Amino acid sequence: MEFKTIIEPFRIHSVAPLRMTTPGQRQQAVAAAGYNLFALHSDDVMIDLLTDSGTGAMSRDQWAAIQHGDESYAGSPSFEIFRSAVQELFPFKHVIPTHQGRAAEKIIFTAIGGKGRVIPSNTHFDTTRANIEYTGAAAVDLVIAQGRDAASLHPFKGNMDVAALAAFLDEHAGQVPAVFVTITNNSGGGQPVSLENLRQTRDLCRRHGVPLFLDACRFAENAWFIREREPGQHDRTVADIVREMACLADGMTMSAKKDPMGNIGGWLALNDDELAEQCRNLLILTEGFPTYGGLAGRDLEALAQGLKEVVDHDYLRYRIRSTAYLGEALLASGVPVVQPIGGHAVYLDARTLLAHIPPLQYPGQALAVALYEAGGVRGCEIGTVMFGRQADGSERPAALDLVRLAIPRRTYTQSHIDYVIEVCQHVAGIARQLPGYRIVAEPKQLRHFTARFEPLR
Ligand SMILES: *Cc1c(COP(=O)(O)O)cnc(C)c1O
Repeated sequence: MEFKTIIEPFRIHSVAPLRMTTPGQRQQAVAAAGYNLFALHSDDVMIDLLTDSGTGAMSRDQWAAIQHGDESYAGSPSFEIFRSAVQELFPFKHVIPTHQGRAAEKIIFTAIGGKGRVIPSNTHFDTTRANIEYTGAAAVDLVIAQGRDAASLHPFKGNMDVAALAAFLDEHAGQVPAVFVTITNNSGGGQPVSLENLRQTRDLCRRHGVPLFLDACRFAENAWFIREREPGQHDRTVADIVREMACLADGMTMSAKKDPMGNIGGWLALNDDELAEQCRNLLILTEGFPTYGGLAGRDLEALAQGLKEVVDHDYLRYRIRSTAYLGEALLASGVPVVQPIGGHAVYLDARTLLAHIPPLQYPGQALAVALYEAGGVRGCEIGTVMFGRQADGSERPAALDLVRLAIPRRTYTQSHIDYVIEVCQHVAGIARQLPGYRIVAEPKQLRHFTARFEPLR
């Protein structure tokens, strides 16, 4: 007998209050924030699904590990504990701790980027793209065609288009310092990459003598999908699948605010001695000494413990099922969402739901603001606001206009999620009345964080 209710595989150990607000208070708060949900005070948010980055709950054992932290400037034992936990899953020769994933990106692209270089990926995350472009290099996305189709049911929509990559590597011979694969594909809907696709990508990289790097933020979720969906993988442990993914690559960048269950952290890991040396020198300039990077010893210990917890099968079964629970409930009530449901988030298809709002009037922004005003639920636009501004200054519609409802790890209960479902259903019911937006102020890079908007009523 298998029961169908998903129970959280943990008990609550410590709680934080959640402030109730009214629609009137929220309308005022979001207008004052220039209709940018990043500018809200989080006290004014009831269910915060802006991101799963650094927002998860640490476990009892992680808090205990914090107490074990050693804050020696050089040679801290906390670094050894961190490095062995990383190498247990990702057996790269060099492990370089950074304060976040983007710090690892800044360092690696400073070393390998620059004018005239091009760096392909299945889909670059926003900070990855920005760090590449900042060096003068170009970032190119080569996800399979199904990965750009919100309705496709392909089981591995994060896969690299291997034929397109082959043509790309031929055309840009000598200009590609590395190929990146993002697991899972965050900007493309939290969709996984198959082992088979990683193997093909690796073989292609080998033939062209180009190193392969993983942007591995959600490696455990990706490995769980491989175990569930890829033929011949179901009897393996997730840890074993993760090690195989790592062994196919030459290096990785990591945000430890995602699957490693940290509130802060990241790392860069790689095999090449010379490149590692160059990266460590850059690390010392902006992050810190190589045995702590941008982190405190206690953070390194919390991450080491988080890495053990995230590959637990009971945790991953709950994690992936509970995200699917939200997505399936929305689908059943006719709210368009990206399918299959991703690992860490449900992506609402705002372009379809708000078909009366053209992409350059930001349907994703319109939907995200409406969810906040109606129910205090904060999601994140992933669409034309985030990706519309081109390097040459022009603006064009992104491939998709989505609102991401990212689920912080081990933080919300099923009743919180049931409430989110109700709020989404309500907003879908009034979708036709929602206005588009225009941008009244924006910075040169990563405009979604600080741009200000006005509704087009
Ligand atoms: C979050 C994320 C990053 C950047 O990491 P930060 O820790 O936020 O700097 C890079 N790539 C992907 C796929 C991410 O999800």
